Amino acid sequence: MKYMSGNEIRKRFLKFFEDRGHLVLPSASLIPQDDPTLLLIGAGMAPFKPFFTGKMKPPSPRITTCQKCVRTGDIENVGRTARHHTYFEMLGDFSFGDYFKKEIIPWSWEFLTKELELPADKLWVTIHPTDDEAYEIWHNVVGVPDERIVRLEENFWETGSGPCGPDSELHIDMGEERGCGRPDCKPGCDCDRFLEIWNLVFTQYDQHEDGTYTPLANKNIDTGAGLERLASVLQGKPSNFETDLIFPIIEYAAKVAGVEYGKDKKTDVSLKVIADHVRSITFMIADGVLPSNEGRGYVLRRVLRRAVRHARLIGIEDKFLNGAVDVVIDMFKEPYPYLVEKTSFIHKVIEMEETSFLRTLRQGCDLLYTEIESLKKENKTVLDGATAFRLSDTFGFPRELTAEILEEEGMTMDDKAFNEALEVQRKMARDARDDKTGRPVIYNTRSIDLASLKVDEGAQCGKIVAMYPAHDAQPVESMEDGKKAAVITDVTAFHAEGGGQLGDTGRIIAPAGVMQVEITKKLPDGATIMIGTVTEGTVAVGDEVKFEIERGRKNDIARNHTATHLLHAALKQVLGDHVNQAGSYVGPDRLRFDFSHFSPVTEEELRRVEEIVNDQILAAKDVTIEELPIDEAKKRGAVALFGEKYGSIVRVVTVPGFSMEFCGGVHVGNTAQIGMFKILSESSTGAGVRRIEAVTGHGALNYVREMEDMVKTAATGLKCRSNDLCARICALQSDYKAAEQKISELEGQIAKAQVSDAASSVCDIKGVPVLVQKVSAGDVEALRSLGDQMRDKVGGVVVLADVIDSGKINILAMAAKDAVAKGIHAGQIVKEVARVCGGGGGGRPDMAQAGGKDASKLDEALKTALTVIEGQIK
Ligand SMILES: [Zn+2]
Ligand SMILES: [Zn+2]
Repeated sequence: MKYMSGNEIRKRFLKFFEDRGHLVLPSASLIPQDDPTLLLIGAGMAPFKPFFTGKMKPPSPRITTCQKCVRTGDIENVGRTARHHTYFEMLGDFSFGDYFKKEIIPWSWEFLTKELELPADKLWVTIHPTDDEAYEIWHNVVGVPDERIVRLEENFWETGSGPCGPDSELHIDMGEERGCGRPDCKPGCDCDRFLEIWNLVFTQYDQHEDGTYTPLANKNIDTGAGLERLASVLQGKPSNFETDLIFPIIEYAAKVAGVEYGKDKKTDVSLKVIADHVRSITFMIADGVLPSNEGRGYVLRRVLRRAVRHARLIGIEDKFLNGAVDVVIDMFKEPYPYLVEKTSFIHKVIEMEETSFLRTLRQGCDLLYTEIESLKKENKTVLDGATAFRLSDTFGFPRELTAEILEEEGMTMDDKAFNEALEVQRKMARDARDDKTGRPVIYNTRSIDLASLKVDEGAQCGKIVAMYPAHDAQPVESMEDGKKAAVITDVTAFHAEGGGQLGDTGRIIAPAGVMQVEITKKLPDGATIMIGTVTEGTVAVGDEVKFEIERGRKNDIARNHTATHLLHAALKQVLGDHVNQAGSYVGPDRLRFDFSHFSPVTEEELRRVEEIVNDQILAAKDVTIEELPIDEAKKRGAVALFGEKYGSIVRVVTVPGFSMEFCGGVHVGNTAQIGMFKILSESSTGAGVRRIEAVTGHGALNYVREMEDMVKTAATGLKCRSNDLCARICALQSDYKAAEQKISELEGQIAKAQVSDAASSVCDIKGVPVLVQKVSAGDVEALRSLGDQMRDKVGGVVVLADVIDSGKINILAMAAKDAVAKGIHAGQIVKEVARVCGGGGGGRPDMAQAGGKDASKLDEALKTALTVIEGQIK
């Protein structure tokens, strides 16, 4: 066995199968295409699902790939075991109704023993107990001795219903010293002696709903070999983490932290977590995943935060992710050269997210330490579940970190209460998701020949081949009026939603009924489905139907879609090449375009973008739509969005001399049809992503009219002509200022009058002048200033009560220096007064404030003041 680098193994694998007639495809994007059931690609075969059902034609019957995969189901185990990862690469070869067991079994053996030079006598094979065909080939053709072929019940691959079949795994014996020592130890044993390195799946049956199996007409092969595992074997490493596909990141993190790998178990776990997670983060962002609080964006955010948290556990306090990302890019730039182009984009996304999470961590720590201090004061050692949950839910402060910090302080948290709070929140989330508009229904299309379905936007009519209640996956034969329905026709003129663009609406006219179509979309298997309501009569499978598309709406959508392409190109011109589409909405009413950019777009830049787009509209250019081979399209410079699909032919939409994009959407024939393009707003939607909303055509006209109406209404309200609006507003503003000035003057006069009135009500208690009085000041500020003036005038004690309303009284007491010297304490006076009229307050000897709640007790309260004062004077 010889040492081989990870990159070399990948290359050899693809070349081996290319030499055997396979089409080598690049890894698909981690973002699944047209599959709403999947967040991220987690297996080599995942991008090929429609090919496996035999209902969509693959570009070649033999394909081989090295697929990037992300799985986070076992994220807690990462770093604690030798082979759990959130990111890994899977080598695979696929036969779509082409070769089968008798080819793949000898090939896999040849690749492992000849190409990788693994020792044949260390290789073991497992098969399904019923799979004598595989046994024959392994034993008689390849020559694996009987004692190294193990029959295991679990060697059967199925996912409920659909294509399935037995599989066969190749294991390598890592040596007795790694095992349990039992004499019958063999693959399938719980111990670490036998390492599975390749799984060959023989898809030969179709499983039906009732649990029975029938043989598939076209048998498939689907294999998967973990690249990191193979590397660990060929590089003689005890775990995947020590291979050249991961270890340089561990070394980097260890250097930054100033720790050494292999010295301390806890530190090693953190180093491994960081190394694994940084690989995930790099590839997810490069494929266009952006951090968010839902879906795949949340997967990214969670992984990134775990990496930062583990960095802190080993003493890295500052930002470090981008340094680690550079190591990843350097390691993988050869097989994935696009990483280099995307470096600055990845850096910016991480910079923002890491900065904000570090802030979260600091805020969370502040809050947590305050709680810990008050627990200590109360001699408690358990943090209540509600606070712990609030930390995690509101501040994004990880629960495990709360537990760890508490542990350092000899404390714990109330896990039970935390889980209860979590359960309540989860239930709320579930309820929100189960709502009718939430989860997409996966319609059962197994009885349909999907390959024969066609989209033809010029088609006038078609035939219904399947029909479903809109919220039910199982087909029905017919539906009558009032029912929500979903139908599939052999040919359809309805354009499905996709790439942010809404689908067509309209009517389907059947011989005995009519269906109003509200939504048109593509199912994961490629079929176009029209969803809406049967409004008249009955619509049934087999009906020959006529299509009526809502043309006006479709034209509005086309205007907005072509304008979106113009906007995209104009933004690149004005802001730079880093601008990339991050999402879009194209509807009949408006368009929304999300793109990567790291600061607000200025007013001036927006104007230029608007001008450039409108110039393209006024130039009245013909828009061309072509179907081209993907390489040809890229050569011509078409803008590839994140994660474009496999398939050798792509649709390219061109505005000559200005914009060229891969796009499957609806467009105008000539840019002049857009009419006018007007930006409504520009805003931020999260780290490094800006959003522009705009209107065209009818939307622009409506916008101008709304503005006009608003100006007219304002002018009417201000009793002037529209043209005089600005002058009128200026005049009103200076009138208002003058009025305000007048009011404050008058208030001053009223206060003065109250002050001079007061002189007559002053009484003398044991030689101290005392004034106890109701006043009208309005607010605390004014009351205090009034109090100041009165105290200065009276020279002793002043107690003022200002009744705001029957349930709210402001009370103020002030004392001059010599009154305080004689024993007066303003704080105690207001406390007593407030108590009588149902409130509370207090303060210093010379100044105090309080509030009362019961105005009917005020007279009694003020009498109390006199008694208190008398009692205080020495
Ligand atoms: Zn064992
Ligand atoms: Zn488009």
